[in-house]
Amino acid sequence: MSLLKPHYRFNRITDIAAENLISAGVKIVLLDADNTLSFHGSKKPFPGVPEWIAEIKECGIVPVIISNNSERRIKPFAKKLGLDYVSKSAKPLLKGFKTALEKYGFEPKDSAVIGDQLFTDVLGGNLLGAKVFLTEPLGPETDRFIKIKRIFEKPLR
Ligand SMILES: [Mg+2]
Repeated sequence: MSLLKPHYRFNRITDIAAENLISAGVKIVLLDADNTLSFHGSKKPFPGVPEWIAEIKECGIVPVIISNNSERRIKPFAKKLGLDYVSKSAKPLLKGFKTALEKYGFEPKDSAVIGDQLFTDVLGGNLLGAKVFLTEPLGPETDRFIKIKRIFEKPLR
């Protein structure tokens, strides 16, 4: 089950200090969107998220949204936050992560995957060979497939 274990756990993404990322050798962060940067499907980021993004950018780290949600959901959200993105990434498959790494010229070892779900973010991040940061899902889950996954996740978290 080690593929379902994150390297680091934080309550919220904004609790991850830029120094945590730098000391882990991270140069690019592959960010989940729903329940990591905002409530599921919400246009409004969680408090502190825009500032957190600005801070890690200042430290020279590249943030990219990698989401399984639709282009329609992710494109305007990413634009608002000034972020590049990959939508419909089919995590835990690696294609979306790899697209971003290739675009910016980084290797998996340079990357961190940050997200709230074991079976997409943590599993995908570990398969990629990234540093994996698990955050607590902050919203009530509205998507019924995610609700089901949460039931299976619970004893594993
Ligand atoms: Mg999520």
